[in-house]
Amino acid sequence: MTTTKQNLRGGAFLLVDEDPTNVFSPDDFTEEQLLLRKSVQDFLQQKVESRYQDFDSEKGHEIAPGLLEEMGEMGFLGVGVPEAYGGFEADFRTQLAFGEIAYNAWSFGLSIGVQTSLGVAPLLLYGNDYQKAKYLPGIVSAAIKSCYCLTEPGAGSDANSGKTQAVLSADGSHYVLDGQKMWITNSGFADLFFVFAKIENDPNLSCFIVEKAFGGIRLGAEEKKMGIKGSSTRQVFFENVPVPLENLLGERGQGFKIALNVLNTGRIKMSASVTGKAKRGFKAGVQYAKERVQFGKTLGSFGAIQHKIAEMGSRIYTMESISYRIAGAIDQQYDALMEGGSSTLEAKFKSIAEFAMECAMAKVHNTEAEDFIIDESLQIHGGMGYSAESPIETMYRNSRINRIYEGTNEINRMLSIDMLLRKAMQGQLDLANGALAAKQALKEQPELFEPSKSLPEAIDKLKKGFLITAGAVAQKLLPHLKEEQEILMQLADMAIQVYALESCYLRSEKAQGQSSYPLRKQLCQIQLQRSLPVFRQAGQEICFALENPKLLRTLEALCAYEPFNLKAVRREVAEYFIERGQYEL
Ligand SMILES: Cc1cc2nc3c(=O)[nH]c(=O)nc-3n(C[C@H](O)[C@H](O)[C@H](O)COP(=O)(O)OP(=O)(O)OC[C@H]3O[C@@H](n4cnc5c(N)ncnc54)[C@H](O)[C@@H]3O)c2cc1C
Repeated sequence: MTTTKQNLRGGAFLLVDEDPTNVFSPDDFTEEQLLLRKSVQDFLQQKVESRYQDFDSEKGHEIAPGLLEEMGEMGFLGVGVPEAYGGFEADFRTQLAFGEIAYNAWSFGLSIGVQTSLGVAPLLLYGNDYQKAKYLPGIVSAAIKSCYCLTEPGAGSDANSGKTQAVLSADGSHYVLDGQKMWITNSGFADLFFVFAKIENDPNLSCFIVEKAFGGIRLGAEEKKMGIKGSSTRQVFFENVPVPLENLLGERGQGFKIALNVLNTGRIKMSASVTGKAKRGFKAGVQYAKERVQFGKTLGSFGAIQHKIAEMGSRIYTMESISYRIAGAIDQQYDALMEGGSSTLEAKFKSIAEFAMECAMAKVHNTEAEDFIIDESLQIHGGMGYSAESPIETMYRNSRINRIYEGTNEINRMLSIDMLLRKAMQGQLDLANGALAAKQALKEQPELFEPSKSLPEAIDKLKKGFLITAGAVAQKLLPHLKEEQEILMQLADMAIQVYALESCYLRSEKAQGQSSYPLRKQLCQIQLQRSLPVFRQAGQEICFALENPKLLRTLEALCAYEPFNLKAVRREVAEYFIERGQYEL
C-alpha cells in the first residue's frame, strides 16, 4: 500500500497508509489546550470530586443546574460556540480535549455533555441567525439549560419511527406539538428542548426548538437507574404545546438528518469522555495494587495483576490514539474545505460527516475498552470493589450506559459498515479495486503468507484481509446484506481492529526519538496481540458463513505473527504504570 502525507478521506485508512506525521494525538496538545484542560480539571476537582457520592444520588439533580451556571460564568460552556454568541469556538481537537476532562465528572459530566454537545449542536449546525442569537448566549452562560429529545417509548434505535407530532394551528400561526419522549438527560431542569417530531403525516422527522415557557410540557418522575444516578433522566410529555413557526430548526423533514449529524459529533466526543473515565478507573486499580498486601507482597507484584494492568494501560493508549486521530482528521478536512471556499457551516458539516464511520467505530471500541478497564480495576479491588463505599463500584455502574446510548454498539457496528459501503457505492472510496489489488498481491507475493515480523507488516496484512473479506461478502451477499447482521457486525470488528492497531502504531512512530518511544512500542505490541485474535475470529466466522475454506486459510496466514515474549513485555509495562500510580507516558 502507498503511504500518503495527504489528508485521508473517511474510510480510506483501509486503502492507504497514513504518514505518522499527519496524525494528531494527545502528545500534540498545545499550551492552550493543556491550559484549558487544567482549568476545567481544577474547577471540577474542587466542586465535584470531593462530593462524588452526591452525584451518585438524586442530590445531583439539585446541584447540577447551579454548577452549570458556575461553569457558564467561567466561560467553559462556550467551547464550541462562536464568539459572536458568547463562546470561544475551539477547533474539534480542543473540544475533545475539553470533553475528556469535563464529561468525566461523575454524573455531572452528563449535564456538561448535553449542554455543550447534544443540547447545542442542533442549533450550531442548523440554526438560522435569529435562532442562534436568541438561544446560544443563554446556553453558553447556562441561563438556558437544554436537552435533546429524540427517543420515545416505541422509538429507540429506530428513531425515525417516533410518533410525536406537530400540527399547524387552524390559523396557521404556529405548530401544536403532542407526544412523549423518554430517557431525556437534563430534562428535570431544562428550559429548552430540541424536540424531534413529524409534521402532520410526514414520513420523516423535523426538529423544533421548544421553550418550557411555551406551556404544555409535563415531566415524568426521575428514572431509577443502575448508575449515573445524579444525572436527571425523565420522560417528557408534550400536550398541545404551541410552538412558533420560526422555531422549526432547519427544514421540514430534515430532523432525522439533524439527529444523525448531531449524534456523529456526540459519538466521537463520547469516545474521548470514556477515555477520561477509563483513566480514573485505571488509577484506582493501580493505586490499590500498590497498597494492598497479600501473601506478604503488594498485589502489583503478582504476574496476574501485572497482566491486567498492562492490558488496561495499553487499551487507554489505543483509546486516546483513536479519538484524537479522528479529531485531527476532522480539523484537517475542515481547514481544507475552508481553503477550498466552503462556508464555515458547510465545512463543519462535511468534515464531521466525512468521518462518520470512524466516529461510530471509536464509540464502539472505546466504550467497550472502558468497560473492560473498569471491570478489571474492580477485580483488582477484590471484595472492596464490591463495596458500595468504594468509588470503583460507582464507576462500574456508571460505565455500563455508554454502550447503550448515542446509538447502541450493535447499531454503531452495523452503521460503520453501512457507511463504508455507501461511500464505495457512491464512488467516493474504491473498495472494489482495493480488494482486487489485495487479491493480486496475495497471488504475486508468497511472502505475504509468512508470519509477520513487524507491526507495519501486520497492519498491511490486516488491511488486505479486510478488503478481500469485504469483497467476498459483497460478491455473495450484497443484494441482501442488510439481512446479514452477523456478517456486518463481524466486518465492523475487523475494521475496528485495523483502525485501533494502526492508530496506536502511527502515534508511536511519530514519537520516535522520544524517551517514551520504547514504552509506546510495547503498548502497540500488546494491542497487536489483542487485535489479531479478534480480527481472526471475526474473519473465521464470515468464512464459515460464506462456506469459503480458501479465504479462511488466507486469513489465518495473514493473521500469523512471529512469536515474541508478550509476558515479559506486559510485565515491563505494568511496572512502569505501577511506579507512576496512574496512566501517564
Ligand atoms: C440514562 C439514559 C440517558 C439517555 N439520554 C437520552 C437523551 O438525552 N436523549 C435521547 O433522545 N435519548 C436518550 N437516551 C435513549 C437512548 O439513546 C436509547 O436508550 C438507545 O438509543 C437505545 O434505544 P432503546 O433503549 O429503545 O433500545 P432498543 O432500540 O429497543 O434496542 C434494544 C436492543 O436491541 C438492539 N437492536 C435494536 N434495533 C436493532 C436492529 N435493527 N438490529 C439489531 N439489533 C437491534 C439494540 O442494539 C439493543 O441491544 C438515554 C437512555 C438512557 C438509558
